Amino acid sequence: MAQRKKGDKYTCEECGMVVVVEDVCECEDCAITCCDVEMVPVKAKKKAAKPAPKKKPAKKNAK
Ligand SMILES: [Zn+2]
Ligand SMILES: [Zn+2]
Repeated sequence: MAQRKKGDKYTCEECGMVVVVEDVCECEDCAITCCDVEMVPVKAKKKAAKPAPKKKPAKKNAK
């Protein structure tokens, strides 16, 4: 497994909990588990960008 870095975020796909790595460990292969499943890096799957609400410009009746 790839080594963790400080600040890495991991999420549990079961319950949706998110954890942030504050202190890295030197384990070659250790997993953060929650709900008996290995948590996955959050950055692996990016959240869909928020669709910006489109404002319709007020049309002015030009004479
Ligand atoms: Zn969980
Ligand atoms: Zn470890």
